[in-house]
Amino acid sequence: MNFEAIVENDLSFPGEPYSVLVVDDDPEQLELIEYSLKKEDFDVIVSSSANEALEILENRIPDIVLLDIVMPKMNGIEVLQHIHKDEKTSRIPVILISAYNDTPRIVQGLQEGANDYVTKPINFSVLVARMKTHIRIGQLLKRLETQTHVLSRMAAFDELTGSYNRRSMNQILELELSRSRRYNHHLSILMMDIDHFKEVNDRYGHITGDHVLQGFTCRVNSLLRTNDALCRYGGEEFLAILPETSEENAVRIANRVCSAISGEPFLIDDISVSITTSIGVISHSPLTAMTISELMERADRAMYKAKEKGRNCIYFLSEKEGE
Ligand code: GH3
Ligand code: MG
Ligand code: MG
Repeated sequence: MNFEAIVENDLSFPGEPYSVLVVDDDPEQLELIEYSLKKEDFDVIVSSSANEALEILENRIPDIVLLDIVMPKMNGIEVLQHIHKDEKTSRIPVILISAYNDTPRIVQGLQEGANDYVTKPINFSVLVARMKTHIRIGQLLKRLETQTHVLSRMAAFDELTGSYNRRSMNQILELELSRSRRYNHHLSILMMDIDHFKEVNDRYGHITGDHVLQGFTCRVNSLLRTNDALCRYGGEEFLAILPETSEENAVRIANRVCSAISGEPFLIDDISVSITTSIGVISHSPLTAMTISELMERADRAMYKAKEKGRNCIYFLSEKEGE
């Protein structure tokens, strides 16, 4: 299956019968439109006033709205403005219907955001063709929005653990590095690598290993603040970006994470899996101009120092020591 097919699979396309809300204060017109559209298999909801139409829209979202322009109390253009203002209804295609066929009125209707303008007496074959076109465009737009949402999630997060992926990690680092310089704050980083993780896979299997990675993410996240970002750097390596965090606090958090991981085994389908993690800690003072790759290189070095120290521990690499 190719990538497009996988994304497509997530999106259903609602088909016919389409629902339409028809708003017209003239009972004869309303009856004629209802009759003609029902004949074309539309699910028709009728309303003889603007207020009633807006009430209906509170509870039901039709595929399209046909709106008479000239109505007492509130005219069609005002109803259109209400429809557009409300997030729930703003995407419903609207066709204005009017006996006026002068250019300025048609232009005004379209400028107000109507999708189309149809004049009375209505040619129903043309109206139905236009309605289906606008419904189709609306559905395509909705699909595009959903796809964009799905794809941007896929582009930003690691699928297995839900933590930020490497691409987001670089963006967050760039943003936080410039904020740390601008606001004169420390930026601290924890580089975490699960110890002997290969043995976990070898002993319990890859799927259990996957669940342990999920549990690890969850436990680390519970110890971070909302402004911190946990990113999956690679396989069993994670990076926590801690904005506005001093050296002392970064060390404190790293110790907490280290103890929380080793302190209690992960229970995966009745299997108890104990792991430990080695954490490299660095803190970037806004006075030193470090690049992202320098930061990452130092964080990596700090993590290897923790491994050398015997694992299941943290190592703080000071700016001086890292030079
Ligand atoms: P060390 O203490 O030196 O870090 O030892 P280690 O075994 O953790 O390190 P090594 O780099 O040798 O092995 C990393 C292991 O992580 C091997 C690899 O299969 C596993 N791994 C990486 N990504 C995933 C994943 O997504 N799921 C699972 N289950 N395992 C993974
Ligand atoms: Mg590793
Ligand atoms: Mg490891």
